[in-house]
Amino acid sequence: MPILRTATILVINCGSSSLKYEIIKMPEQQSLGKGLVERIGTEGSIITQKTKGMKHCENFDCPDHKEAMKKMCELLINEEFGIISDLSLINAVGHRVVHGGEKYSESVIIDKDVIKAIEENVELAPLHNPANLIGINEAKEIFPMLRQVAVFDTSFHQTLPPSAYLYGLPIELYEKHRIRRYGFHGTSHRYVSNKALDMMRRFKENTNVISCHLGNGASITAIEHGKSIDTSMGFTPLEGLMMGTRSGDIDPAIIFYLSERGFSNDEINHMLNKKSGLLGLSGISNDLRDLEEKAANGNEKAKQALDVYAYKIRKYIGSYAANLVKVDILVFTGGIGENGIKMRERICHRLESIGIFMDYDKNSEVGANPGIISQPYSPVAILVIPTNEELQIALDTYDLYV
Ligand code: ADP
Repeated sequence: MPILRTATILVINCGSSSLKYEIIKMPEQQSLGKGLVERIGTEGSIITQKTKGMKHCENFDCPDHKEAMKKMCELLINEEFGIISDLSLINAVGHRVVHGGEKYSESVIIDKDVIKAIEENVELAPLHNPANLIGINEAKEIFPMLRQVAVFDTSFHQTLPPSAYLYGLPIELYEKHRIRRYGFHGTSHRYVSNKALDMMRRFKENTNVISCHLGNGASITAIEHGKSIDTSMGFTPLEGLMMGTRSGDIDPAIIFYLSERGFSNDEINHMLNKKSGLLGLSGISNDLRDLEEKAANGNEKAKQALDVYAYKIRKYIGSYAANLVKVDILVFTGGIGENGIKMRERICHRLESIGIFMDYDKNSEVGANPGIISQPYSPVAILVIPTNEELQIALDTYDLYV
């Protein structure tokens, strides 16, 4: 038996106005603690750090990600509520990077070429890749001797065949402007589909999985023999399922119709990304808990929004099942997939014709814990698996470190 090297990995996820971080000990896969800086660049910036049952919250002046990373380093080694005793104990840094374009189908060690490629993809992910680059540059300054790894949200979907990634548009748009389906949430789909194989004691070579990541953003992926062959998010995360505040699929002609009626590009963009989905349809909230409560009290708009949400997921499951020929496992993950007991019921209750038989008692019992919620005779096993993108990033970083 080879002796596995231990490593302490710092995982960094820089969003447009946030910084999430976690320290994970490998190969034990043990989280030592994590933190979140919110409202970077606006008033009321706050850092929250959790470790060993302790939680520390602090407001501080945080004009940019540089300051956020500085604060993170300070808190990581705080004597009272820190996560580690010294920054020199960190062995490698793993970064979530949203867009790897067509260049990266796997996680990579960050060098000059990787930075250049992330820069070239800024036009495809203008809100996220710049923040990811800041995180990488800052981490390189703080930890100049450490190996840094980029884990792309898009890389898992680089196995999509052209029939799934091309749009029915003039081919020059793909060839000259890189317009194609890229897909997102790849780290989560990869993590839960691997976990599903472990739970069912199956090998990827003979297993097909449909994974539903249902959070504020939501996407669904068809995975054949371990490879993503279709996914619902497209050129941007706006396509596909209806989400918390995003419309998902609509007739693109609606945009011209609105434009002719005086709506500006910015207004339409804002409406489709921030004012649609569960929030827009219900007029109440994008939060599933609020809507379930209202629906249970007879609110028709809330009920309708929940029905539309479930229906669109069923449509995708059906189309992916047709394409996969045989489905072995259906996975629910993300805040709604993990916690939304009633929503899972709504989604599955008419899927029996394609071999998906839910055990409604088990579905309630499992709640948000990992578990199997299908009937023993169901040809498709239905699983609830909490996602852990940070752990997947640590796993990839560890693989490239040892
Ligand atoms: P994000 O995409 O921002 O990471 P999450 O994966 O945290 O989002 O999912 C957020 C969604 O999960 C919200 O719609 C929220 O209502 C839902 N959610 C979280 N906890 C529960 C719960 N206990 N019951 C029902 N829904 C929940």
